[in-house]
Amino acid sequence: MDILVVGGGGREHAIIWSLAKSAKADKIYCAPGNAGIAQLAECVPIQVNEFEKLADFATEKKVGLVVIGPDDPLADGIVDVFENRQIPVYGPRKNAALIEGSKTFMKDLLHKYNIPTAAYAKFDDYESALTYLQQQSTPIVIKADGLAAGKGVTVAHDMDEAIDALQSIMQDKVFGEAGSKVVIEEFLAGQEMSILAFVDGETVRPMPAAQDHKPAYDNDLGPNTGGMGTYSPLPHIKQSIIDQAIETIIVPTAKAMVAEGRSFSGVLFAGLMISPDGTPKTIEFNARFGDPETQVVLPRLESDLLEIFLATVNGTLADIEIKWSEEAAVCVILASGGYPAAYAKGLPISGLQHTDEQALVFHAGTAQGQNSEVITNGGRVLGVVGLGADIASARTKAYEQAAKITFEGKHQRSDIAAKAMLEV
Ligand code: AMP
Repeated sequence: MDILVVGGGGREHAIIWSLAKSAKADKIYCAPGNAGIAQLAECVPIQVNEFEKLADFATEKKVGLVVIGPDDPLADGIVDVFENRQIPVYGPRKNAALIEGSKTFMKDLLHKYNIPTAAYAKFDDYESALTYLQQQSTPIVIKADGLAAGKGVTVAHDMDEAIDALQSIMQDKVFGEAGSKVVIEEFLAGQEMSILAFVDGETVRPMPAAQDHKPAYDNDLGPNTGGMGTYSPLPHIKQSIIDQAIETIIVPTAKAMVAEGRSFSGVLFAGLMISPDGTPKTIEFNARFGDPETQVVLPRLESDLLEIFLATVNGTLADIEIKWSEEAAVCVILASGGYPAAYAKGLPISGLQHTDEQALVFHAGTAQGQNSEVITNGGRVLGVVGLGADIASARTKAYEQAAKITFEGKHQRSDIAAKAMLEV
């Protein structure tokens, strides 16, 4: 079967790497892809928001399945476009992708079905939001309703910071229409954890838990990024807490979506906070694979990813076996100097050829230069994954491999997964 994957980051590289292992997979296309993906798939120069062009391409090539990577096209209804044209597609429809696309929708849903999450209030006018905010204590969390490229959330430590965030969302409209509504939310202290699950309606097949590192610098300092590194499993978090998160949050949310006539099909990703007493609560839901969580979760998948996708599309996800390895995976992101603020592009990357068996290099922001050398082309450039019997050995592998790769201004955190080892 030929497959089209839509997207061009580290997540899509990991998805394609996993799909390519399937005996059922023939040719893989990726739109638009990147320099690493080009080694496994044919990259086609169509952007992720060009739905009709993508559908025309899928029809022309008679692909057996289209897989959607990023959040924006899902929120804008790309799956509905493919379904209307009878093209098999993996991902949630627009009415289900709303669980990521609107934080007010997500919070109201969880509230209605008594699913654990932070207390909140929502507003669509600045004055009422400000009046409410000024009656609260800090820290407090201010969130733009819509998609804001991961930048719509401010954890405000004092009232000035909270008011600034509210102003920039609702008055300065820095996120455009995504900021026409806001959620003001209780601050939750604790450990964060991500659980992704393959979901089809009420069927939930969880993947192993992972942890991300959002801030740009060591010790969680500096501005938030798309994610500077991940690891899986989480040896310092009890399995009973992970099971509780699945049973009290992910399964009821999938059921709630069905009850609301918004049956979810695809990857449902719960961002969770484990409170100091061990209770998991929801911070966010995403409607797709996480980036860079995917880079540490899929290498641990022993089953055939294409079979899982096809079973989802055919409504038989409950019937298949899904196996995970006991191996640990650690992903260190190599970013462009300056990221998440301004950074240079087009810088040559060296050392990519020295890959160890226990290491994987997933490309995110890379492109092919004029002499077909690999050059930087984004903020997050590469995700270097180390594999091993435990987090310590996987982490050593990831950092050894990362050290072999160089480009001008390369920035990485040196403490990815350090927390897991300290607390075991
Ligand atoms: P989100 O985009 O909703 O995942 O939020 C980005 C980050 O903000 C999360 O990964 C958390 O670190 C933090 N965050 C969001 N909501 C809360 C909350 N209610 N309490 C504490 N931290 C939060």
